[in-house]
Amino acid sequence: MKPFAYVRATSLREAAAAHARHPGARYLAGGTNLVDLMKLGVEEPRALIDLSRLPLHEVRELPDGTLSIGATARNSDVAAHPAVRARYPALAQALLAGASGQLRNIATTGGNLLQRTRCPYFQDVSTPCNKREPGTGCAARDGIHRDHAVLGHSAHCIATHPSDMAVALAVFDAAVELYGDQGTRTVPVTEFHRLPGDRPEQDTVLRGGEIVTAVLLPAAAPGAVSLYRKARDRASYAFALASVAAVLQLEDGRVRRVALAFGGLAHRPWRATTAEALLTGAEPTEAALREAVDAELAHALPLRDNAFKVGLAANLARDALATLTRRAAGHAP
Ligand code: SF4
Repeated sequence: MKPFAYVRATSLREAAAAHARHPGARYLAGGTNLVDLMKLGVEEPRALIDLSRLPLHEVRELPDGTLSIGATARNSDVAAHPAVRARYPALAQALLAGASGQLRNIATTGGNLLQRTRCPYFQDVSTPCNKREPGTGCAARDGIHRDHAVLGHSAHCIATHPSDMAVALAVFDAAVELYGDQGTRTVPVTEFHRLPGDRPEQDTVLRGGEIVTAVLLPAAAPGAVSLYRKARDRASYAFALASVAAVLQLEDGRVRRVALAFGGLAHRPWRATTAEALLTGAEPTEAALREAVDAELAHALPLRDNAFKVGLAANLARDALATLTRRAAGHAP
């Protein structure tokens, strides 16, 4: 590991100023991904600016019903928070499906959003990787890519985003609150992560030096039910081959509102807008659910070794929506 400066920030302003003073600096919170990448030589920051002592660890209910989750709130604390469990159960389930108990106890909300892909070539500095070193190529495209993207990938990168939490946030229409030298702004979580295009080195729309300060969850709709389902190679401590988060609200037996998002399939959580448009206002019959999910996954462009993900994701989504339909109608717990 290369030597680096260390700054323990006591305010957002101080953190941003330190970032500006140290080109190539990285913000540090739980460190569960960044420190691993430093050990691998993937990240070689000249300075670490520690945000962990900033007062950003609280989960707060705002007067308008928004739930504000501070950027340094630990994944385990968010998953166990009574308001999250009661009103955003898919978020609690997604957090508990991620990593291990030990990691969730130190990993933060902001860090979960900003974690990097686990593409093995990205983590191996001896191989070409456009995300790690732009212009060198993509070793995964003709290499081992069973775990890689089937939606929204490009000739430059076929990586997936590893977060479970971000997939659940996508169906709750969450926003990411950011602090930077031009003040505070919020970005819908569905627009926070990028598709790779020809700039796969940019995972998000963060501007230089900006700090994630909170995730904002709008008030949950009355009667809406939600869940998160994840398929993986092991029962725990594994990233998603495919996952799905869904929120459903029925009215008079028809879909008043549905939100559906896939994880493990793309460079960002994939909000299934085609399926949502087909289901909104419709009776959620088995045939309607199948048609909507199939229409969404018709966008898929599977690679040589990962076509199985399309069928896996379809089964997860149909089952999740059918389960929520029974729950919303009061026929299942
Ligand atoms: Fe790098 Fe993306 Fe290709 Fe993986 S898929 S080797 S992260 S460019």
